[in-house]
Amino acid sequence: MTKVHNFSAGPGILPQEVLQQAANACINFDNLNLSLLEISHRSKNYEAVIQNARALVKELLHLDDDFEVLFLGGGASLQFAMVPYNLLRTNGKAGYVNTGVWASKAIKESKIIGSTEVIASSEDKNFNYVPKDYTIPTDLDYLHITSNNTIYGTQIKKFPKTSVPLVCDMSSDIFSREVNGNDFALIYAGAQKNMGPAGTTMVAVRKSILGKTERKMLSMLDYNVHIKGASMYNTPPVFPIYVSMLTMEWLKNNGGIKHIENINNKKANLLYTEIDRNSAFKGTAAIDDRSNMNVTFIMDKPELEPIFDKMAKEAGLSGIRGHRDVGGYRASLYNALPLESVQALVDVMQHFEKTNG
Ligand SMILES: *Cc1c(COP(=O)(O)O)cnc(C)c1O
Repeated sequence: MTKVHNFSAGPGILPQEVLQQAANACINFDNLNLSLLEISHRSKNYEAVIQNARALVKELLHLDDDFEVLFLGGGASLQFAMVPYNLLRTNGKAGYVNTGVWASKAIKESKIIGSTEVIASSEDKNFNYVPKDYTIPTDLDYLHITSNNTIYGTQIKKFPKTSVPLVCDMSSDIFSREVNGNDFALIYAGAQKNMGPAGTTMVAVRKSILGKTERKMLSMLDYNVHIKGASMYNTPPVFPIYVSMLTMEWLKNNGGIKHIENINNKKANLLYTEIDRNSAFKGTAAIDDRSNMNVTFIMDKPELEPIFDKMAKEAGLSGIRGHRDVGGYRASLYNALPLESVQALVDVMQHFEKTNG
């Protein structure tokens, strides 16, 4: 079997050793001779998993004691609704920076719940850059940003400084670089990009920003209910949380975020250098805003795409086609993707240039 290089944008690549541990736990978890999938979430063995997962998030994001960490269902998309539902006051106002499809969906939900202002947008250039130097109104209940734009391949390199509570969708670059979580009021991330498998969403929220809306809250949509239940108000997604915990342990045991950030920089530099050098390809994102996680590029002669696709397939490159809304190519370089996979992609690009350029 040829080695497969997995550039999938999401669900994305997980470390091989994590997959092995996860597979073992499906058969015999903690030497209980029971599967992780068939025991109570209230058992002492599972309680240890969710507590450990919550503690690892706090450690990796350097969160202070005002923060609570939750693992919820419903995907990052449910957070598009839960954020305004929990933070936007009846007479208040939310601010959003629109940097792509996901931010637009978050804005749509917020508008249903209350007064919502888009304070900056890169829609004018098909979201190929990140707006900067915009004015943030000081009367906002919160400002919502998206740290990495999975579809367009842009990433915020410097987070805005503001006195307004900052809410960030970090679904596609969480744990890819050092971030001081205390600069935020709420961070959320669907697990399936860079943290674990699909099925759970991590929410880290400051307790002190909650309970200000005077809204009558539905229990399942109320962060305070989940906090009180220690992230087990209802049966949590036990398996995705377990695999997320394993992935965070893997990260910690392999040098931590500083180390992975260095490798992520190397991987991205290798690929962007080739995109800029190779006459057959061009990058689509503004150079200063290029994402280290999702690298988007197009072919100079799009009619030759089938030839490149065939070469890529033969070399074991998987998941490099662009998002269906934008076309072209997208190589996702999540934490678990080794440098050698990026080299394999670069080799194919060079071979393509020589034979078809
Ligand atoms: C994938 C993605 C989402 C949507 O996540 P779901 O878990 O499918 O709801 C939201 N935001 C960003 C930045 C994403 O990459």
